[in-house]
Amino acid sequence: MRLSPAQYLSIGLSHLTAASLIAGFFVTKSPNPFRAIPVDADFAREGSFWKSADLGVKCSLCPFDCYLTEGARGKCRVRMNRGGVLYTMVYARAVSLNLDPIEKKPVFHMLPGTGILSFATVGCPLRCSFCQNWSLSQVYPEQAVKGEQLAPEAIVTAAVNNRIPSIAYTYGEPAVFYEYMHDTARLARKRGLRNVVVTSGYINPEPLRKLLPYLDVVKVDLKGIREEFYSTEVGGYLPAVLDTLKLLAKTGVQVEVVNLVVPGRNDGAEDFDLLTKWIRANMGPDTPLFFSRFHPDYKMRNLPPTPVATLERARAIALKNGLRFVYLGNVPGHPAESTYCPDDGTLLIERSGFQVGRINLAGDKCPKCGRKIPGIWR
Ligand code: SF4
Repeated sequence: MRLSPAQYLSIGLSHLTAASLIAGFFVTKSPNPFRAIPVDADFAREGSFWKSADLGVKCSLCPFDCYLTEGARGKCRVRMNRGGVLYTMVYARAVSLNLDPIEKKPVFHMLPGTGILSFATVGCPLRCSFCQNWSLSQVYPEQAVKGEQLAPEAIVTAAVNNRIPSIAYTYGEPAVFYEYMHDTARLARKRGLRNVVVTSGYINPEPLRKLLPYLDVVKVDLKGIREEFYSTEVGGYLPAVLDTLKLLAKTGVQVEVVNLVVPGRNDGAEDFDLLTKWIRANMGPDTPLFFSRFHPDYKMRNLPPTPVATLERARAIALKNGLRFVYLGNVPGHPAESTYCPDDGTLLIERSGFQVGRINLAGDKCPKCGRKIPGIWR
């Protein structure tokens, strides 16, 4: 079912209060101001991927492998040791639920022109100074308005009843609400829906493998290709993200990659060259890649938006290095939003912003030359 823009209605929103946003600005600078607050019983449940360790617990959900003493939180702010048990504090605690166009994720090689029910909790293990979703990712659960519980069944039923074909785990970092995502994705798959995860790729291999049977598309933010950039501007380890991408490339799941281009930080020709060569060598030339435009936000409000010419230069380098589906993101109306046959240049899917125009596919093939176009098209 294709949706008109008017149908992309927000079907429920429970966000952060202004006061908590202000508080959030400060708490990111202190270790844990909520250490003494009891676990909210409505939303807390025992997490997965942890074990007891000396005088604490060890979480192995993401590459930080946090060791947590009694009462401590992980770097993600949403997992804690309470009485020697690791709890997730955000199960069924969605703070944003929207019906988005799938192009907004952005995911271009699955069901173009359809809506996708998208939700998130707060929390993220990373600390990107250029985060475009920091009001969700960089806060504690206690800073979000306490809404009603939104159980996996409720989300899946909303999608089915509104004939929405897929669900996205997105906005912040879904790995930190792993249990909530897992249960929702499993149920969604049972009811005939598709699942899309939009992630930084900051997750350990075992939890990822256990989730994969329920996933259709994984969209990974590869924020740069230099380890120094990841350690200073992202607060994580690049090799862990590259391992995730390599693991995904070996599975049958559709993978799309986005690189947010931040002026003066990761926008050198050498960055684009290394990044696109790595993707081609490790994931294959048919991997869809987006160069996305940065808007000043969070700790990088002093920078200008990415010049379109920089994005075009990145795309030219990617094409030269053999990638076949290279898009520009956040540049509405640019020809590089559309999909073309890499063999004969036929326009296959016409896009402008989040609007989809003509879809010119013969099943999963170019109608002119018959080349197979990777993706999920029906
Ligand atoms: S998921 Fe959270 S608690 Fe677990 S290792 Fe990652 S940052 Fe630490």
